[in-house]
Amino acid sequence: MSDPSSAGPDAPASTAAPDAIVIGAGPGGLAAAAALGQHGVRALVVERAERLGASWRGHYDRLRLHTTRRLSALPGLPIPRAYGRWVARTDVVRYLEQYAEHHALDIATGIEVHRVERSDSGWELPATGGRVLTSPVVVIATGHNHTPYIPDWPGRNTFQGDLVHASGYREPTAYAGRDVLVVGVGNTGAEIAVDLAEGGAARVRLAVRTPPHIQRRSTLGWPAQASGILVRRLPVGLVDRMAPYVERLAVPDLSAYGLPRPRTGLYARVLEGAIPVQDVGLISAIRARRVEPVAAVEGFEGDKVRLADGTEIGPEAVIAATGYRRGLEPLVGHLGVLDERGRPVVRGPRTPPDAPGLYFTGFTNPISGMFREMALDARRIARAVARTV
Ligand SMILES: Cc1cc2nc3c(=O)[nH]c(=O)nc-3n(C[C@H](O)[C@H](O)[C@H](O)COP(=O)(O)OP(=O)(O)OC[C@H]3O[C@@H](n4cnc5c(N)ncnc54)[C@H](O)[C@@H]3O)c2cc1C
Repeated sequence: MSDPSSAGPDAPASTAAPDAIVIGAGPGGLAAAAALGQHGVRALVVERAERLGASWRGHYDRLRLHTTRRLSALPGLPIPRAYGRWVARTDVVRYLEQYAEHHALDIATGIEVHRVERSDSGWELPATGGRVLTSPVVVIATGHNHTPYIPDWPGRNTFQGDLVHASGYREPTAYAGRDVLVVGVGNTGAEIAVDLAEGGAARVRLAVRTPPHIQRRSTLGWPAQASGILVRRLPVGLVDRMAPYVERLAVPDLSAYGLPRPRTGLYARVLEGAIPVQDVGLISAIRARRVEPVAAVEGFEGDKVRLADGTEIGPEAVIAATGYRRGLEPLVGHLGVLDERGRPVVRGPRTPPDAPGLYFTGFTNPISGMFREMALDARRIARAVARTV
């Protein structure tokens, strides 16, 4: 790995200009750089953190990939069999390190790209320490889960208990014996609630706005991700009509425990950005009443949290598993390459009409798994770039 930070904070940009710059050394950026290399395109990966794989280093301890090892491998290197079918967070980080080494990727850590600007020869990237990196090709891989998001709940600042975003949660020790409210029942909220219940929290409530679709991670050895791959190209309406039958067979009715079956279509929700919750203990924790579903959060007042059904509860701590924002506006918002929701207007091998050489990877959240998607996009981007440089 190169270390441009050793050049000092005011040093100019690296002298050996790469063919392409990849922003972000997560799985998406590493996959893109490796695939570019396989096509003879020299890529420099620029990463703001001190080490690659920063997002996975920071996730909560018990996290495992809920996509399978085989279907999560990045181009050119399988995930080691020894890591098991559901790869643990620490092994994901080990794999990313091995991946960078295997492909001899050129990674400059500790450098944040502030903005992507047009230049006569392509793109200029003002970055940490006054550097300005230049390249005709830029791949943006800064992550779908870039900026932790907590809703601007009324009275939020008056709350006397602890309020943290799920990105700040690691493990349950600090919550032992305490009354905790987890807000949001995506995969992260569901798993943190289970972790707290198993880790000794006195009471765990889970605030639910829209009842989620829940899936078994695998059924008789068949992973939910494989079903996601199969149904991905089917019409949304068809999948949404079929899904409830499968769900009724696989998942018990939890209405009596405060979690009714979803009334929204499974695939329609995926297209809105809500991936089904993979059951890693939520169903049994709810049935054992160790995790109590409650209504959505409406606001805070002093030591109370007001819920959408009019009740008030007094948890000592609140963990907001309320998602992330892509945070692309400061980087590329001025280029007219984002839609009204801040999503890139193109992905994979396509570039925006008046931004040639600018590629995006990792900004969708498909039912078939993001690692798999980023692996596919990396290959497509590399083929497209190789035709132009
Ligand atoms: C809790 C959780 C569990 C998940 N589990 C799965 C799973 O089981 N299977 C699956 O397929 N997907 C999963 N995903 C989704 C997705 O695969 C991961 O979020 C994955 O890390 C995305 O990779 P990425 O490279 O796009 O983004 P990231 O891993 O977030 O990497 C982006 C990198 O860019 C860097 N960066 C950001 N801005 C800048 C900048 N301006 N300059 C320089 N560097 C910058 C960041 O520091 C970071 O290292 C999960 C996501 C979460 C949050």
